[in-house]
Amino acid sequence: MGLPSKRRTKQSKRERASHFALVETSLTTCSHCKRKILPHRVCPHCGYYRGREVLKLETILGKKTQRRAEEKKAKTSEHHH
Ligand SMILES: [Zn+2]
Repeated sequence: MGLPSKRRTKQSKRERASHFALVETSLTTCSHCKRKILPHRVCPHCGYYRGREVLKLETILGKKTQRRAEEKKAKTSEHHH
């Protein structure tokens, strides 16, 4: 019942363990800002991919910060009541 019926030898254990090693993450440099980024992805620092701007990061970040400020205002007003 759920127990190994045969003893595994050291060799078979080591053969199985030959696939356990972690592979080092490969990084490429952004062609626009020269920072280390993941390959085949839009650069998270400048929003560029293959030499052109794909993401408008400043607008996205601006919206996020605005939202946070509004949340903070709401929280403080709740606290006041
Ligand atoms: Zn970049």
